[in-house]
Amino acid sequence: MKLVKAPSIGNYLGIKNLSGIELKDKFKSHIESMDIKIIEKRINNVYSMGEYFTIVSGDDMYEATTVIMATGVE
Ligand SMILES: Cc1cc2nc3c(=O)[nH]c(=O)nc-3n(C[C@H](O)[C@H](O)[C@H](O)COP(=O)(O)OP(=O)(O)OC[C@H]3O[C@@H](n4cnc5c(N)ncnc54)[C@H](O)[C@@H]3O)c2cc1C
Repeated sequence: MKLVKAPSIGNYLGIKNLSGIELKDKFKSHIESMDIKIIEKRINNVYSMGEYFTIVSGDDMYEATTVIMATGVE
């Protein structure tokens, strides 16, 4: 992720002068405090099934009611 490459983040509302790594650690700590498990996998396909989505990663499949895509610009 690009965030960890930023030596200094100066424009994130409410947080002043933090490095990208420090901001990433804050995001991660917040997510973990909510008992949300982070799974790192490359996603090959997302299919809309009407009431839910099927997400395909290699041989694995997941189901979700909501998908947020944040794949960056590259
Ligand atoms: C040196 C530097 C300094 C910066 N300074 C600032 C700053 O001061 N203020 C500021 O606001 N911004 C700054 N930025 C920009 C900021 O870091 C990025 O705009 C931001 O991190 C983009 O976040 P993103 O989640 O959209 O994309 P990314 O950080 O690019 O993350 C996208 C992620 O999605 C993953 N991905 C893509 N496709 C798939 C797939 N099929 N399956 C699974 N994963 C996938 C990628 O591997 C990547 O990890 C800076 C960037 C750099 C490089």
